[in-house]
Amino acid sequence: MLEINSIDVYYGPIQALKSVSMTVAEGSIVTIIGANGAGKTTALKTISGLLRPRGGGVSFQGTDITRLRPDKIVALGISHVPEGRRIFPELTVLDNLEMGAYLRHDKKAVQRDIEMIFARLPRLNERKTQMAGTLSGGEQQMLAIGRALMSQPKLLLMDEPSMGLAPLLVKEIFAMIEEINRNGTTILLVEQNAHLALSIAHQAYVLETGQIVLSGPAHELAHSEDVKKAYLGG
Ligand code: ATP
Repeated sequence: MLEINSIDVYYGPIQALKSVSMTVAEGSIVTIIGANGAGKTTALKTISGLLRPRGGGVSFQGTDITRLRPDKIVALGISHVPEGRRIFPELTVLDNLEMGAYLRHDKKAVQRDIEMIFARLPRLNERKTQMAGTLSGGEQQMLAIGRALMSQPKLLLMDEPSMGLAPLLVKEIFAMIEEINRNGTTILLVEQNAHLALSIAHQAYVLETGQIVLSGPAHELAHSEDVKKAYLGG
């Protein structure tokens, strides 16, 4: 579904990704694990068109998206749940969800999708007129995911959904990610919580200082001595 072919990404003179290649098969959960600053966020931002690679390219369902604008990439079916949620704090929960559908014109279907998200996440339903900035961290993460689903993505990019959340909530969020995947959405998940990410993913990539150093089926990586030592606490 997604092919990243040898991309080089820079911030000014600093090279953040060095000839990174990855594939994401339709229907799967793929995870990118790695330490702080390895380049995980940079990879997601490059896919969603927020950063431009200096070399290499990205294609989605056979279309070259390397130089497309972010809104065109959303329209093709890629949605991004950014690191730190980035919901609109001064808007209500309902308005945030509606913003996620800003490219859609099928008003009735948008309404139906909002109802579906509320049915799945009753806590958001109870707070639909509340300002999003007043939600708890876990509720904000659910809202950010709900908002991303409103564009009806085929591929969902998720950047550190567990960040700053209590263990119980993290479990809830990961169960939600698996459910979204079971319902047919392909997922590319960036996580520092390697243990959890490898437990739900099919395929995994390990990124170290801008380079892929290891990749394979997630259950194999979970048992690799190198991964255990570096990312799973021994
Ligand atoms: P984290 O888990 O801490 O978010 P990450 O793996 O997502 O880390 P990136 O945020 O992609 O890492 O950063 C990769 C490298 O690029 C780091 O060395 C970082 O300092 C650098 N970098 C990121 N954003 C910028 C920027 N706007 N300007 C300059 N350098 C940047």
